Amino acid sequence: MIVKMKQQATKTDYDKLVQALNQRGYTIKDVSSETVKIFGVIGDTAALDVNDVKAFNGVEQVIRIQTPFKQASRTFKEDNTIITLHNGVTIGGDASVMIAGPCSVESADQLSIIAENLSRNGIRVLRGGAYKPRTSPYTFQGLGEEGLRLLRAVADRYRMAVISEIPSSEQLDVFEKYVDIIQIGARNMQNFQLLKALGQSTKPIMLKRGLSATIEEWLMSAEYLLSSGNPQVILCERGIRTFETYTRNTLDLSAVLAVKELSHLPVIVDPSHASGRWSMIEPLSKAALSVGADGLMVEVHNDPENALSDGAQSLKLPRFETMIHQLKDVAKTMGRPLK
Ligand code: PEP
Ligand code: MN
Repeated sequence: MIVKMKQQATKTDYDKLVQALNQRGYTIKDVSSETVKIFGVIGDTAALDVNDVKAFNGVEQVIRIQTPFKQASRTFKEDNTIITLHNGVTIGGDASVMIAGPCSVESADQLSIIAENLSRNGIRVLRGGAYKPRTSPYTFQGLGEEGLRLLRAVADRYRMAVISEIPSSEQLDVFEKYVDIIQIGARNMQNFQLLKALGQSTKPIMLKRGLSATIEEWLMSAEYLLSSGNPQVILCERGIRTFETYTRNTLDLSAVLAVKELSHLPVIVDPSHASGRWSMIEPLSKAALSVGADGLMVEVHNDPENALSDGAQSLKLPRFETMIHQLKDVAKTMGRPLK
């Protein structure tokens, strides 16, 4: 961290700040000249808040050099994190992964039709919401535990792994019982109590990017999971809120590249929630694989027109099947076959 003092800062201002930093275990490397008073703060500055330093009298500017996230950073761990699921699927390794399924689990029939079709197309990770974070309390809220039970039963039939969104830490036991990857929804990305609780879980966690979260905030949330003891963290870019309203959100593909530079954690792209439109899923999926995403998560439905949630962004099964063939070609070109 670099600190520049104001021209009019006094020796007392300087000494007071240096003393406070020394007390917190940092050493000071002064590189002042006759005209500028400037020094470096040496040590583990992840725990040091830029604004706390700015609070001192006489401080003009504070620049962070080290990232505030430690365990999530490439500096901490150079090699990519690879997560292996119980059915042998790996996320973050040599292959790209396709996660697919309905927005919400609606019934045993709906889930069976979809899973059978997905399995026939080689899909090995089934998604489905059982506790739905809906904007309106009057819309379908999900089947709850029964939804998770259905997911498990249907997935086991096809040797698929299951991912589903957890609403709060109260449901952790039931999620541990039924799912293979616990999803943290965009709206919960900064629910720090939930992050700490899931840091204790033995299951991999997929952390969706918050609606308006910066890349740094997203990685800081990942840091909560890692520092609480769970090394199996997957990031998911699902679009962010911008001034644009034509699409549901704006897919931030540069974030995938940024996160790949900054972190060792795998990144999945969810083009369904990013665009809100089924017609955009295939081209966005191709783009996501082209920028090096580790995989995709896509919503599909056997009857999107009558889906209980997110029908407009759900692909019909035949359309999904055609897309998979196209994506396999893109993934192969990228050197990471789609599995
Ligand atoms: C979902 O994946 O079902 C979902 C609700 O996504 P998000 O949290 O990204 O809105
Ligand atoms: Mn959805």
